[in-house]
Amino acid sequence: MRYLWLWVFAAVLWALSGQHATAAEVKAAKYQVGKAVVWAIADSTGNRDTSVFSGAAPEVLAQYMPSGKSPTAVMAFLVKVGHETVLIDTGLGAPSGSRASQLTAGLRQAETPPEDVTLVLVTHMHGDHIGGLTQNGGRAFPSARVLSAKTEHDFWLDEKSPERFPSRKAGFEMARSVLGLYGSASETFEFDAIVASGIQALDARGHTPGHTAFLLESDGEKMLFWGDLVHAATLQFARPDINSQYDMNPEESAVTRTRFMEKAAAEKLPIAGAHLPFPGVGTVEKNPAGGYVYNSR
Ligand SMILES: [Zn+2]
Repeated sequence: MRYLWLWVFAAVLWALSGQHATAAEVKAAKYQVGKAVVWAIADSTGNRDTSVFSGAAPEVLAQYMPSGKSPTAVMAFLVKVGHETVLIDTGLGAPSGSRASQLTAGLRQAETPPEDVTLVLVTHMHGDHIGGLTQNGGRAFPSARVLSAKTEHDFWLDEKSPERFPSRKAGFEMARSVLGLYGSASETFEFDAIVASGIQALDARGHTPGHTAFLLESDGEKMLFWGDLVHAATLQFARPDINSQYDMNPEESAVTRTRFMEKAAAEKLPIAGAHLPFPGVGTVEKNPAGGYVYNSR
């Protein structure tokens, strides 16, 4: 009996500290883009270390990541535009080990219960973008349609893909099970399609076969949601030629990254990135000495 009491007490303490940790870690920031409202929500935050840039020269890593780390996050973006409540990517989801997902708490801060989300736009199907589509084995967003690029969808759901890329077996299984939950509510689009009022899907292939950027435009104002073009802000704006080990087609990734940085700088286009440090929103300038400079907003 005594042990039981001790156990209960410990459990209550753990629950309380867990709650406090959750409340303290919610990070959400609000932006206005024309008539649209954008919430940048951190599913988690942390630091990227140099090990994922194994292709880069050590002196370059020492220059741009002198501490060996670059601040990062797993971001999701809520966009309220027209009659749609759109979520761009969904974070890691709850069953992610010690890195508990903060997406639901962030949505609460944005006063948007998950059942209010009408559309989920998926930049690509890595686990840190589609994991949050499911909760407790069911749909995390029961009223939402889920849209992904046809090339991305077909790659991850092709029965032959696991044979061709055996190291990514878990990723294929996850895509299949998570999208399977949505049945006919999971739909695809072609690049350049208008996927929601004021949102266009742009070809950002390289990181994955159908990696997509979404361009929001409302009342002449714009924001570009560019998914995983950058994994370490301190390194890759200065050196967009450097890929991370997550970039499935390195050559294409570097070309795409540079093309979008050039576009963002030339058009003074605010960008929102899934792995930029919180709030994940900023602007890009061209550095006359080479590369680009990122200014967080
Ligand atoms: Zn990612």
